[in-house]
Amino acid sequence: MLVQSLLESDRTLDTQNARFDIALNNMSQALCMVDQQQRIIVCNSRFLELFELPANMVQPGALIEEVFYNAAAMSRYERDVIEAICEKQRELITAGRTGSFFQENADGHAIAVSHRPMPGNGWVATYEDISERRQAEARIHFMAHHDALTCLPNRLLFEDKLEQLLKGMRQEDGGAAVLCIDLDHFKDVNDSLGHPAGDQLLKQVAQRLLECVRGGDVVARLGGDEFAILQSSACQPEYAEGLARRLVKTLRTPYDIDGTRVVIGASVGIAIATGDRKDVNHLLKNADIALYKAKEEGRGTYCLFEAEMDVQLQARRAMELDLLEAIDKHELILFYQPLFNLETNKVSGFEALLRWRHPSLGMISPAQFIPIAEEIGLIARIGEWVLRQACHDAVTWPADVMVAVNLSPLQFRSSDLVHTVRSSLDASGLSPRRLELEITESALLKDNDKVLATLHELRDLGVEIALDDFGTGYSSLSYLRSFPFDKIKIDQSFVREMDRRPDCLAIVHSVAQLAQKLGMATTAEGVETLEQLDQVRKAGCTQAQGYYFDRPKPASEVVRWFTCLTQQLETAA
Ligand code: C2E
Ligand code: MG
Ligand code: MG
Repeated sequence: MLVQSLLESDRTLDTQNARFDIALNNMSQALCMVDQQQRIIVCNSRFLELFELPANMVQPGALIEEVFYNAAAMSRYERDVIEAICEKQRELITAGRTGSFFQENADGHAIAVSHRPMPGNGWVATYEDISERRQAEARIHFMAHHDALTCLPNRLLFEDKLEQLLKGMRQEDGGAAVLCIDLDHFKDVNDSLGHPAGDQLLKQVAQRLLECVRGGDVVARLGGDEFAILQSSACQPEYAEGLARRLVKTLRTPYDIDGTRVVIGASVGIAIATGDRKDVNHLLKNADIALYKAKEEGRGTYCLFEAEMDVQLQARRAMELDLLEAIDKHELILFYQPLFNLETNKVSGFEALLRWRHPSLGMISPAQFIPIAEEIGLIARIGEWVLRQACHDAVTWPADVMVAVNLSPLQFRSSDLVHTVRSSLDASGLSPRRLELEITESALLKDNDKVLATLHELRDLGVEIALDDFGTGYSSLSYLRSFPFDKIKIDQSFVREMDRRPDCLAIVHSVAQLAQKLGMATTAEGVETLEQLDQVRKAGCTQAQGYYFDRPKPASEVVRWFTCLTQQLETAA
């Protein structure tokens, strides 16, 4: 009976041992159990694998210190790593504490250790190779701090580095500089050659940026076509300016994208960190403001931040917000300036000139707010308002008096310009022959075919088309050939200079003669004196406009003014 029960418990023990063995040897972690004398009680096969030890060296009873000593000599882990593990475990053993830590090789191999004391002063520990996990973590960390396309630091890391630099900067160190770089016309490349080409271009740009800087500087991609450089030792603004000049020059050198020659440019804004103001956001914002200024100055250049720029920018932002509401608040008004016909000596029409009666800033000139309206995408709406209002006003004038309306080049981009013109005429009942549309040469610069097609459609409606500010723009003569304009308006800069500069007088003459040959009328703009009037008349201009006749005035004055002026000028002529 007794023997039988002994045999049975022996069997149970065997089964349990076998199970324990299987469990132990199927663990993914290496395990080692050690007694009070620091001798091994048991360890699993993963322990042998991990430390690359032969089984005979790790028998129960072997001293753990010796085992680790052998491991240091035989395994892929550096001696320092194994020794460090022993050292840390020794501390835990002495203190009788539980603890987890990890130890890393210089090459990225890492072991995580979890140590726990056992009753009777022994201990058990697990060891796990976490190299892959660590590498994945490192990869994730890299990805979170770098731009995937160019591998440059991203905004997060850039701001981090900037913050560190600013924190460590002492008064006597002089400044560090932040340069914000924006590529000019990058979007055109993306649109015309496709995104893969755009990507390649960005990579080449990144490479060129890296070639421009010194060892301690940081080059980052902040997003899209925006890059930034942290110049760590820019003790003088001239250092940063020197770098900015190099950047602008390098980036505009043509690129080879799969055999296609691509030319872009870059604008750069610089902000210098001085000892007193050390705030990352403040510095980046200032560099951005300077960048904005550089773009405003025609791109392909750099600008150093000045406090005044911030004030200007705030004012500009405020104006943008106000402009968005200007139509609805009835703050836009049309002034009219007479166009005097030099053949009949009569006022033949009025040019509608837009004004903005700002609630606090007073009357604002279109030269100031039209470019803003163009930039914030409001020009189509404003242009439509002008057309409707001008037709509405003009229909009350005598039937032979025209109204001229200025069009922004951007109005040709929206597809419904023709529709807007037609519906303004229909709504007001104004005859198309009494409407003249003034465009500048810049309207013909882009999408020439589309613009010309629109001009023809407008002309088919019966309205007249005038080329405004002639002579200020580009290859003027070619535009004269591209569309049969009804009229050329000679820019006032020529008229103003006629007295002093014979070449200006000669230009007025030739344009008037040329126009006559092409069957076009000519208006001399900016006639302020009787002498100028005589000169433009002699030159052969068919119309004149300027302060000599009258300044632009509100619509309410037009009718009264029209009759008086005609009477006066008839007697003068
Ligand atoms: P613009 O079309 O060339 O208009 C003529 C400008 O010359 C007007 O300036 C007018 O007031 C000014 N002017 C007329 N006679 C004289 C003169 O004898 N001496 C001098 N010094 N100046 C004279 P304004 O009204 O400030 O308009 C400036 C520009 O703004 C216009 O030039 C036009 O390009 C643009 N603009 C005005 N209204 C509109 C509009 O409704 N839509 C668009 N897109 N642009 C407009
Ligand atoms: Mg005009
Ligand atoms: Mg003009």
